[in-house]
Amino acid sequence: MRSVIIFDADNTIWDTDAVFRSAQLALLQTLASDGLLDNPASHLTLLRAIDCHLMALHGKAEYGFDALALALIIAFTRHCSAEEAASEAFTEAQTQDFERYRPLIHMAHNTFADALHQPPPLFADALAILLSLRAASISASSIATILMTEGDTTRIERAFSAHRFRERTLFDEILILEKNADTMAYARSVGYRILCVSEETTPILTVFVGDSLKRDIQPANRAGFVTVYKPAAFKGFEIPQADDETPTHVIHSLAELPHLLARLGAEIQTVASQG
Ligand SMILES: [Mg+2]
Repeated sequence: MRSVIIFDADNTIWDTDAVFRSAQLALLQTLASDGLLDNPASHLTLLRAIDCHLMALHGKAEYGFDALALALIIAFTRHCSAEEAASEAFTEAQTQDFERYRPLIHMAHNTFADALHQPPPLFADALAILLSLRAASISASSIATILMTEGDTTRIERAFSAHRFRERTLFDEILILEKNADTMAYARSVGYRILCVSEETTPILTVFVGDSLKRDIQPANRAGFVTVYKPAAFKGFEIPQADDETPTHVIHSLAELPHLLARLGAEIQTVASQG
């Protein structure tokens, strides 16, 4: 069966979590240098809890990160909960109380942003797997590979450059789009165009591979795809909170993907011989 294989990028193809962890540590070290805390690494859990609340409040993963520095300062000076600190930083209700921290917030934000400039390392096997799928795609027009990411465009492009994604043409198409059922259906239509097929004439296997049940698996399930969940350190092994967050399959490494695709009926027999 011809196949459209769509990949998430952050924490699926590359280890975004490792880069964010370094940036978060750098942010805590900046606050520590001002005497607000000791032992920066011991506060990563608090920072991540605040980050989760701020992501929910902003409705996106990459918000203005000076809010993160402000929320941490609120938490360390008021000894309040992560949720309260995030909420206060979000509404900036008490901003005037923290005016004297503005230079520190600015410095912490810049430190964090600079650390985020480090390109994320690719996961083991990612390059080999993507190249082997491309080899199959080029030789037999049997597989269309698409990268679909909703991350910050500048950061994503920096990762593409670092790993020469575009020069190597690791994917038939790269889509930087918010993920929902409609954009998933659009991504599938792009795959069909690459394969020069229409759904009416040929059965096509469409697979989405991602690390987030809410941001990847749920919209892909809603679009009717076969979904492959690859848990990552960012959120650990998530438990579905709704029926449509349940993945069709679970893998723990991209190296498991070719075998799974073959079992699903994808035409990837030629991949092994072409390496
Ligand atoms: Mg992801």
